[in-house]
Amino acid sequence: MSLKLTILGCHSATPRTDAHPTSQFLEINGRFFLIDCGEGTQTQLRKYKVKFSRIKHVFISHLHGDHFFGLIGLISTFSLLNRQTELHIFAPKGAEEIIKLQLKHTKSWLHFPLYFHELTAKESELIFEDDKVEVHTIPLDHRVYTNGFLFKEKVGERKLDMNAIKKYAEIEICDYQNLKNGKDFNLNNGEIIPNSKLTLDPLKPLSYAFCSDTAYSEKIIPLIKNVDLLYHESTFLEDKLDLAKTTKHSTALQAGKIAKLAHVAQLLLGHYSSRYKDISFFKKEAKQAFDSVLLAKEGKIISIPN
Ligand SMILES: [Zn+2]
Ligand SMILES: [Zn+2]
Repeated sequence: MSLKLTILGCHSATPRTDAHPTSQFLEINGRFFLIDCGEGTQTQLRKYKVKFSRIKHVFISHLHGDHFFGLIGLISTFSLLNRQTELHIFAPKGAEEIIKLQLKHTKSWLHFPLYFHELTAKESELIFEDDKVEVHTIPLDHRVYTNGFLFKEKVGERKLDMNAIKKYAEIEICDYQNLKNGKDFNLNNGEIIPNSKLTLDPLKPLSYAFCSDTAYSEKIIPLIKNVDLLYHESTFLEDKLDLAKTTKHSTALQAGKIAKLAHVAQLLLGHYSSRYKDISFFKKEAKQAFDSVLLAKEGKIISIPN
């Protein structure tokens, strides 16, 4: 079980040569997810050597261009690369219409199945689940309908306690999977060895919450409580608090307050406005409320081992 996040873009509004709009690639418990897809995401994927083919699920927070305009380019490139495997897009209502219209009028033919999962709910919902991971929406407060996403590992198998197992010659390798699944062991003499004597608790599942774009909202706290890593946008510093309120964005201090209230392990800041030339001030400001602060930068990799 592990979590590895690659920052592809972490700035707001217009793309520049050294500042790319929002996109992140997440590897969690053996699954690969693309989160948001601002313009130029595909070139950032190439730059940071992320294998395109690994992406099967794309999560789009909202339809502002700095989170979405890279999607048609990425889909088109997948087609040119002769992709065959299906692609699932989780996005607000409207994304499917926009993409399909672009494909129609550019007479683009896809060789792979493209599925849209339209998000419209105002409450948090489970939108993806398999045997390793689950993904929930985090409804956010922005100028258009917006969701963050909570990615959670599922509780893994129990771990074998080999020192304990060795004491019983009757336990063979073929029994290990049953033990990992939590079953007790029956000895030939009728004695039952409880599973807790033969195995150890599984590793603690990791979790990542992505929250962009949003005004300060304590409503999200129950959803992101105790996550291992919280990405919370910080478009502005406190000097532009009024602008943050009118544009429904957050300041770095507000992001720090949310991290503290939610008792997260680490806070990752991003979505910086281009008016700030030195992003180190974002960290300084968030630290007034919360100690463990990281700054998103293009190419940065955050790994959390379990
Ligand atoms: Zn944005
Ligand atoms: Zn936005």
